[in-house]
Amino acid sequence: MKTKGYAVLSASAPLEPFTFERRELGVSDVALDIHYAGICHSDIHQAREEWGPAIFPMVPGHEIAGIVTEVGSSVTKFKVGDRIGVGVFVDSCRKCGPCLAGLQQYCDEGMTGTYNGYERDGKTVAMGGYSDKFVIDEKYAVTIPANLDLSGVAPLLCAGITLYSPLRNWKAQKGKKVGVIGLGGLGHMGTKFAVALGADVTVFSHSPSKEADAKGMGAHHFISTKEEGWSKNLASDYDLILNTVSADIDVELYLNLLKLDGTLVLIGLPGKPYAVNAGTLLGKRRSLAGSMIGGMPELQEMLNFCGEHNIVSDVEVIEPSYINEAYERTVKSDVKYRFVIEATKF
Ligand code: NAP
Ligand code: ZN
Ligand code: ZN
Repeated sequence: MKTKGYAVLSASAPLEPFTFERRELGVSDVALDIHYAGICHSDIHQAREEWGPAIFPMVPGHEIAGIVTEVGSSVTKFKVGDRIGVGVFVDSCRKCGPCLAGLQQYCDEGMTGTYNGYERDGKTVAMGGYSDKFVIDEKYAVTIPANLDLSGVAPLLCAGITLYSPLRNWKAQKGKKVGVIGLGGLGHMGTKFAVALGADVTVFSHSPSKEADAKGMGAHHFISTKEEGWSKNLASDYDLILNTVSADIDVELYLNLLKLDGTLVLIGLPGKPYAVNAGTLLGKRRSLAGSMIGGMPELQEMLNFCGEHNIVSDVEVIEPSYINEAYERTVKSDVKYRFVIEATKF
């Protein structure tokens, strides 16, 4: 299937127009026209090989929202014209414990990524969402609620689920105090979800200018982490803090804000290890945890939750020719709050 998109040809090159072939429709596949594709910071990390060697040419993009154009003969979940979403993985082994539990992102064989990896045949390079068409097995796609704007939905497929999952796992709710570090693509979704779940929500941000936006999203408190010593007078009363920052921040400062049995969840993925004192953890039985996106059932649950609560991402919709500038602005934390590419314009 002839597909137009944007690719990066080496770690130091900008993205450029690129045409390639996708697999033809299989019996259990659906084909879609991509309408919007979000720009996740993980795209930038991978395109620039900040997480290690990558596969080039790379068509990034794992926040995909589109409309079904064709369905395979055995497909039951979708029909032509349906609004459909694809996230960070497009397949998995389907038989290990995590896969059977609906936690495909933790597949024992490794999830099959939407790009920068190989499809299940072990040889076809997976090409992502910065493109006009996509083909996916129906089991790895989700239905988008009718009331949500498609451009604002695209970022839910990664940024949304990545924050929804830990908030549910660690039971963010009324009576709980939740912190979100970094008001970026992930952080602004975490803020909206934690508020909708009824928690008392604090945004920790190194951009003081984002305070009004954070409050507009429902955050109850905003703490600027730009000043030296910002944490000194704060109480240790947080149940849960989610770190969405990939820069090398001092996680000890946040561990110290956790109450007894509180948890700091690492979500941002820096290229090097953090330093943590055992004493900070054991003194209050605190946990340091990690969380990665979410599985297929939870992805659909999250979209349904968004439909019920009318939650979408705040987006800046851009044309494909703006992708390289959008990368630069994302790195500078200068996006409100997710760039989304108009994929019909490739
Ligand atoms: P993003 O839009 O760039 O947001 C990151 C935010 O971090 C920025 O908006 C900024 O917020 C804050 N920040 C940036 N530089 C900082 C610094 N030097 N010191 C302190 N704070 C800083 O990125 P994103 O798309 O949300 O992704 C965030 C991270 O999560 C990336 O590493 C990405 O790869 C990772 N990720 C993980 C998963 C997972 O499954 N665990 C999934 C997707 C993405 P303020 O301006 O408010 O400080
Ligand atoms: Zn992502
Ligand atoms: Zn598996």
